[in-house]
Order: sequence, then C-alpha cells, then structure tokens
Amino acid sequence: MADKVVFLEYVMKKFEEVADKINLDPKVRTILSQPKNEIIVNFPVQMDNGEYKLFKGYRIQHNNVQGPYKGGIRYHEEVKLDEVKALAMLMTIKCALVGLPLGGAKGGIKFNPREFSQDELMRITRRFTHSLGDSIGPNYDIPAPDMGTNAQTMVWMMDTYMNTRDQGSRHNVRGVVTGKSVECGGTLGRNSATGTGVVMCVEEWAKGTGLNLADSTFSIQGFGNVGSWAAIGLASLGAHLTAVNDHTGTIICPEGINVYSLKEYVAKNGGIAGFGDYPVLSREEFFSHEVDILIPAALENQIDTEEAEAIKAKLIAEGANGPTTPAGEEILKNKGVSIMPDVLANSGGVIVSYFEWVQNKASNYWVEEKVHSELKRVITSAYLEVVNTSKNHNCDMRSASFIKAFESLQNTYALRGIFP
Ligand code: NAD
Repeated sequence: MADKVVFLEYVMKKFEEVADKINLDPKVRTILSQPKNEIIVNFPVQMDNGEYKLFKGYRIQHNNVQGPYKGGIRYHEEVKLDEVKALAMLMTIKCALVGLPLGGAKGGIKFNPREFSQDELMRITRRFTHSLGDSIGPNYDIPAPDMGTNAQTMVWMMDTYMNTRDQGSRHNVRGVVTGKSVECGGTLGRNSATGTGVVMCVEEWAKGTGLNLADSTFSIQGFGNVGSWAAIGLASLGAHLTAVNDHTGTIICPEGINVYSLKEYVAKNGGIAGFGDYPVLSREEFFSHEVDILIPAALENQIDTEEAEAIKAKLIAEGANGPTTPAGEEILKNKGVSIMPDVLANSGGVIVSYFEWVQNKASNYWVEEKVHSELKRVITSAYLEVVNTSKNHNCDMRSASFIKAFESLQNTYALRGIFP
C-alpha cells in the first residue's frame, strides 16, 4: 500500500497534468494550486477520567470563488495537513464539476474515535467547533460528515455554533453544517446520499457498457456510511455482494452476502469480522476476489500496484476519496478496467448537502422523492457530461472530470477577476 504523504503529491500531479492539457489560464492555475486558508487549532478537552488531552484539528479552505467553502470533517488517527489539503482541493473540483454554487474545504481531527466514549466525542466536537469560531458559518464555510463522523457529530457542531450566536439569530444558522439528523434540520435522504449517488453512476455506466446489474457481482472496501448504502442500492437492483473488507478483515461469500443483516451487525459490533460465521480473511484475498464491480469506500491510497495487479473487475467505482494511486491506475487502465473517479462517483453526498443547505435557508423541507429525483438529475447529468468530455478530449473519466471543473472555475475567474 502506498504511503499516505503521497496523496497530496498525486492530486497535484493530476492537477498539473490536466492544467497543461487544457492550457488553464496561468492566473487561475496559480490561485488553485494552494488553498486560500489553512487553519490549525490545538484545543484541550476534558476526558471522562478528569484528565485534559490536547487535540489537533484542521480546516483547510481551498477555494470559494463559486460559493461558500464546503467539505467534510474527518476523525481518524492518520489525519494530517497534507491529506486535508488534497481532500479540500478535490472538494473544489467536485462542486465545480457537478455545478453546485459551493467551493471546496475539508477538515479533521487526528485521533481514533473508536477509542473514546460518546460523551468524550461530544466534548471533542464541541471544543473543536468553538475553536474554529467564525472560521465556519452558514454563508462562509459549511462542514459535513466524512470518515469517523456522522449526523450526531454534525448536530453537536450545529448546536455549539448556534449557542454562540445571539438569541434572535440562532435558528437562522442551522445551515452551518449539513448531514444533520432530520429532527435537527437535516434533509431526508442525506444519510444514504453518497452511496446512492455511487449506485446512480454505476447504473449509467452499466447502461453504456451493457452489463446487466441484476446478474452482476460486486465487492466493497469499507462498510460505513458510503459502503453500506452503496451495497444496499446495488443489492436492491439484484446485484450480489460477494466480498467485503474493512479495518477488521475480509469476508467472502460467492453466493452473496445479506447487506441488510451486515449493516445491522456492523452497527452493533463496529466491524464486519465475525458476521455470519464467515472466516476472517486477508486484505489480499479481498483484492484478488473476482467481481464485476469493486467499490473502494474506505481510505485513500488503497489500490496501489500490488492491489491493481491482483484486481479482477470490470469497474472500480470510487466511493472513497483518492483510493487509487497513479501507479495503480496505470496498471488498471492497461488491464482495461474502467475507473469512475471519486469527484464524480461520490458527489452524491455534497449534492444532497447542498439540498439540505437550500432547505435550511428557506425553512421549507422536501419530501424524500424530491431529494432522490433531484440527486438523480444532477449526478446523471454530470456523469453524461464527463463521458462526453472524455470522448472529446480522448482521456479517461478522471481527467475529464478535472477538465469540466477547471473550465467552470476558469470562466468564473474570467468574469470576476481578483478583488481589489
Ligand atoms: P465511515 O467512517 O462511515 O466508514 C469508513 C469505513 O472504512 C469503515 O467501514 C471502516 O471499517 C473502513 N476502514 C477504515 N480504515 C480501514 C482500513 N485501514 N482498511 C479497510 N477499511 C477501513 O466513513 P464514510 O463516511 O463512509 O467515508 C468513506 C470514504 O468515503 C472516505 O474516503 C470519505 O472521504 C468518502 N466520502 C464520504 C462521504 C460521506 O457523505 N460520508 C462523501 C463523499 C466521500
């Protein structure tokens, strides 16, 4: 597996390659090559045993020329500045690609949330939100869930932010975060949005290639928010989940794994190991298991040369951000494996986050069918535009996605210029 530090380097490599390919305006290239703001906060939190522990939190605001900064908050022991910078840049590209009036950001805290109690997680989240202060806001920078965070985390963030506002404006600032629970101003359909978006893209790809999903097999790395909902979506179309890998190991069942029971099991036990008495296998066995579609939905840098050589799949649909390294991608391309890039495949999350933000602003809430049909409209249209761009520029879908995003950002800068 590749070293994590490389992630920012290879996002930058792709950035340079596509900027060269389309002769991106040098001014725009200079602006996009670095984030606008890099915020690092060290904040103490009281633990259940009374001791104080210091945490390091990041918020990287990459670009806001098309709208407020937008991007997830990650809780993971390997969070670091370079990783968050790379993820923030991908958010700018993702929002511009799918045509949202939002910019790109990302944040996180370096710690393993599984090692802390629910009360400690609440205090860590509230202290982090308070440390960020006015660096976030419903019209400025709007966090959302990512790895290790969820609707509860977002509600703690919202509540902390609201309570720092004056009494009369508290209810106007619910939109400071998205991915909240429905009871607290969230939208229907946000929890499943990223996984559902992956499935909508896979459906389009299957139409284009003639793969019958009802007859197909798939595997998933990561059975958290993105992985589990993608599994449920594909299973509902008749596809069979035959292998899953997470931080606790791999399970394989060629006849198909019951996705609903596995979701329940993971919610109770925190991982897939031990489910259904399947033996716990290795990571290598997961990647060499033959399927039609492989969905990485855990961390970046998971598919490097070794994994790419082992993979026997027709499509890699990137639910996770940055799961495939450039070296891994090269091998997959040479083997004829299609890669549906992260900025497109997992954009369902930010699309429905945008819908939540719009509903918060209007104080008017949508029925789930509307969320679903609007998500389908936006993501399908982005998918088809990427396919067309890749034909016109004779390039893969990742390059085509970057091209679409850069063209959009370049047009905005051409009209707005730089103030003052
Ligand atoms: P999550 O915390 O809900 O789930 C993460 C999963 O990854 C878990 O199943 C965990 O076991 C697994 N995992 C962690 N470390 C692993 C390892 N070393 N090997 C194998 N599996 C491991 O996170 P999530 O929200 O589902 O996010 C997953 C990915 O999707 C991330 O890359 C995230 O940036 C991306 N993403 C998430 C959203 C969203 O809306 N949540 C939106 C866009 C992209």
